[in-house]
Amino acid sequence: METVYLDNNATTMVAPEVYEEMAPLFCELYGNPSSMHTFGGRIANKITKARRQLADLLGCSPSEIVFTSGGTESDNAAIAGTLAAYPNKRKVITSRVEHQAVLAVCRELENQDYNVVELGVNRSGNLDLNELESQLDDNTALVSIMYANNETGVIFPIEQIAELVTSAGSVFHTDAVQAVGKIPLNLSQSKIDLLSLSGHKLHGPKGIGALYIKKGTRISPFIVGGHQEAGKRAGTENTPAIVGLGMACELAAENIEQENTKVKSLRDTLEAAILEKCPASMLNGDKDNRLPNTTNISFEFVEGEAILLMLDKFGICASSGSACTSGSLEPSHVMRAMGVPFTAAHGSIRFSLSRYTTKEEINFVIEKLPPIIVRLRELSPFVT
Ligand code: PLP
Repeated sequence: METVYLDNNATTMVAPEVYEEMAPLFCELYGNPSSMHTFGGRIANKITKARRQLADLLGCSPSEIVFTSGGTESDNAAIAGTLAAYPNKRKVITSRVEHQAVLAVCRELENQDYNVVELGVNRSGNLDLNELESQLDDNTALVSIMYANNETGVIFPIEQIAELVTSAGSVFHTDAVQAVGKIPLNLSQSKIDLLSLSGHKLHGPKGIGALYIKKGTRISPFIVGGHQEAGKRAGTENTPAIVGLGMACELAAENIEQENTKVKSLRDTLEAAILEKCPASMLNGDKDNRLPNTTNISFEFVEGEAILLMLDKFGICASSGSACTSGSLEPSHVMRAMGVPFTAAHGSIRFSLSRYTTKEEINFVIEKLPPIIVRLRELSPFVT
């Protein structure tokens, strides 16, 4: 087997249908959608179609979609745009397990005299909503809490959170980069004000994303210049990528059922086999309240990076929770926030599947992984 790609929370393969849809936009339909001529108008129609495809997946109106360069930009824009619209409110609430695209912005805000509150999570990665409620006050401009965690797949009760936050008079943003396309969302009845998504996590191209802005939400423009994206995000549109993202959303809508049956079942098979065959292994994160494609497993007394390197020899791609910072291997901020013991946090591995994952690939990993763990434990200085 050449490559067994189980790192779909990092990025996904562009779906062939998406690639096909994008191709004419480069050398054939290359006009500027803002141009007056019919040629440009044809491209503008393509963008209109893509905006509709996103809106259909999310259950919102096309006018509530602003195209961006990806999840990071959407997150940055949601936070900066809201704070600029509410200059007198100086408090922001987020969680300790957010992606850096939110956390780094919030930490920067602390240097600008904002009061930033990072909510903790419990051992299974869940938030304490009472803590959130007690932190909400008149000074709170924004609450930004992710829909689903990229490392563990844990899904937060976002609708409940949105209700709490908006009824307290604050704006609610959710980073739904890992959730969109994997679980059904319906924004038509939702209290979510702002929602970020990214194309490359759902078999669309890289460098494209969107920010959903609920009608009536106060937010300042985040890139100024031309009039594109209703004046919120200036700059000539990345037309091939927008068209690709539109198609990716249409396909996601068609496949969401499969994501929650076939993909989930393969994930469960992999997880159960690993936990059974590898002693001293444990699941990280809530078992039930999770994305259907993600499993995060800790192998005590071994380094995640060592496991990844050995898996890589068999062409198996996964990801570890650790980040190599300044020469020392630090467990990920998510594992630390969950209180995963040191000996296990270092050996955490995330497997993330997609609709292209096959049973044969899962069986291959089930065959190759347990001997790797045995071998590494024999070498481990922690095991006596
Ligand atoms: N938010 C989450 C939860 C993510 O997993 C990622 C990507 O890993 C991002 C934001 C950033 O998205 P992008 O790579 O499109 O900038």
